[in-house]
Amino acid sequence: AYSSSGEVEPASQSYLRSIEKKGRKLGVEIRTLIARTEEEFLALLKELNTSQEVHGVLPLKPLPKSLEYEVRNTLNPLKDVDCQTYENLGRLFAGEPLFEPATPSAVISLLKWWKVDLEGKRVVVVGRSLTVGRPLALMLLRENATVTLCHSKTRDLKEVTREADILISATGKPHLIRKDFVKPGAIAVDVGLSSLNGELVGDVATDEVEEVASMVTPPRKGVGPVTTLALFQNLRKAYELLRSSSSQA
Ligand code: NAP
Repeated sequence: AYSSSGEVEPASQSYLRSIEKKGRKLGVEIRTLIARTEEEFLALLKELNTSQEVHGVLPLKPLPKSLEYEVRNTLNPLKDVDCQTYENLGRLFAGEPLFEPATPSAVISLLKWWKVDLEGKRVVVVGRSLTVGRPLALMLLRENATVTLCHSKTRDLKEVTREADILISATGKPHLIRKDFVKPGAIAVDVGLSSLNGELVGDVATDEVEEVASMVTPPRKGVGPVTTLALFQNLRKAYELLRSSSSQA
């Protein structure tokens, strides 16, 4: 992580805690390293890229633009367990992923777990970040859904989201998705996590959306824990890839 104060922001902190807990359970050593300057961050990145002991690297958000670029450009793609590098994003775009980004992967897994058939469904994704919305749209397309991607400049957002059989929100805007944004019987998936009056909440106003939707993921306890699992699945793959590449060397 990068933080000039040495403190990780609350949404990332809860993600980190869940990664550390799962790591302990699975016997995976998790090290959290916080760089206070950009130089320190870059030096760390270089060291982790080549260290034989490290099999996966997860640069935590938020990062300054310059560091985000460095991560995308220089993180070892074989250790890029959250698919942040240009190489791995390109592979995903081409339909030949090495790793799939953890959060979009968790959303797809949750829908499959619920036995939701995505083929031909109208899916609206709110949020177009490179971390969540954009890769998720690609992955939904691969599942043969008809996908609409919305963002902060989308006009009449409510009119668009009401078309959705499946509505997925990843904006970080607390309770953006109200009851009247959701078609009766639709499925709502809440990816967002943000602070509201000192409490971590989702994008979906769950209490009221539950009245119209057929299924709603609970805030914090839905996509979040599955994201952690998806990350460990990628880590296992990275471990195997690195082991086979070093045995070939
Ligand atoms: P981000 O980079 O800030 O992107 C937010 C996206 O939401 C942008 O595309 C933005 O549009 C859009 N947006 C903002 N306000 C909007 C509005 N009023 N109407 C429509 N769209 C709006 O955030 P991120 O990294 O994608 O993360 C999104 C949320 O998911 C955050 O709360 C984050 O904490 C959470 N998250 C959760 C997990 C998990 O595992 N549960 C993992 C990762 C992230 P523009 O592009 O036009 O600015």
